[in-house]
Amino acid sequence: MGLGPTKRIGDWVSSPEQQTGFARLDAETFPSFEPGWVWLVGAGPGAPGLMSLMCFHALQNCDVVVYDALVNPDILRWVKVGAELEYAGKRGGKPSPTQKDITLRLIELAQSGKRVLRLKGGDPFMFGRGGEECQHLATTGIPFRIVPGITAGIGGLAYAGMPATHRDTNHSVIFLTGHDATGNMPANVNWQAVALASPVIVMYMAVKHLGEIAAALMAGGRAADDPVTIVSNASMPHQEVASTTLGGAGAFVEANEPPTPAIVVVGKAADWRSLLDWYKGPLRENPVG
Ligand code: SAH
Repeated sequence: MGLGPTKRIGDWVSSPEQQTGFARLDAETFPSFEPGWVWLVGAGPGAPGLMSLMCFHALQNCDVVVYDALVNPDILRWVKVGAELEYAGKRGGKPSPTQKDITLRLIELAQSGKRVLRLKGGDPFMFGRGGEECQHLATTGIPFRIVPGITAGIGGLAYAGMPATHRDTNHSVIFLTGHDATGNMPANVNWQAVALASPVIVMYMAVKHLGEIAAALMAGGRAADDPVTIVSNASMPHQEVASTTLGGAGAFVEANEPPTPAIVVVGKAADWRSLLDWYKGPLRENPVG
């Protein structure tokens, strides 16, 4: 079948030593994590079982992990014994490190010869500033690899029984952020175009400004009775899903303060939940997802 010289995944999965205990990844099959490199890795939306094999391999082979607030601490339990853990998010009352500080730190660690795992929630290139970090690594000449992850705006919907696309509902989907670099509702979004372009709109970081965003979408032609679904802590045992409408979304958020992180979904993807909402009952007791 011309699979090339590398081993197929089935070879190591079916070897006897891999069948006992948790499969160790085969160093020959997976890329070598070289000193002085930065791997920018997505950890998925939260449930540890949703991280990729490449993410696991990186955890097992790095010298230092620089991780964000949205990374589930349970995922860090898979890190190699002896690797350092550096937190790069907001902590207590202290101001969060700036993007520049984080990037400089990654460069400093790589230049000191470490294998640097930059671990981010979801997918590093989906509203995760991964592009900005890579850009600086590239211009500084630091070698890097990007490991995509399952983004909350797709995987999180799946855990709430909503397909991001379905032929009966939507042939397109829009991903949008609810605030810009200044923390305000993004000004350079054509809300009318967004309102009319796609039956389903998936919004990250949108809870805070949901009232304003909903108003902009309705002013742009979106119906007030369009369903709005808020998925908080998606894929985690404490996941919560709330339902409202575009017209009621602002008041709903004020009254109910849905927990964050949360994904907000506008549109009839919500209609599938009555049939497809599978993540409940004993299924939630499994800490892996
Ligand atoms: N790179 C990430 C997104 C980072 S922006 C990704 O691909 O998923 C942060 C936003 O992501 C949060 O404000 C929230 O809207 C969303 N998010 C991340 N994890 C989430 C989770 N487990 N449940 C719901 N929303 C989540």
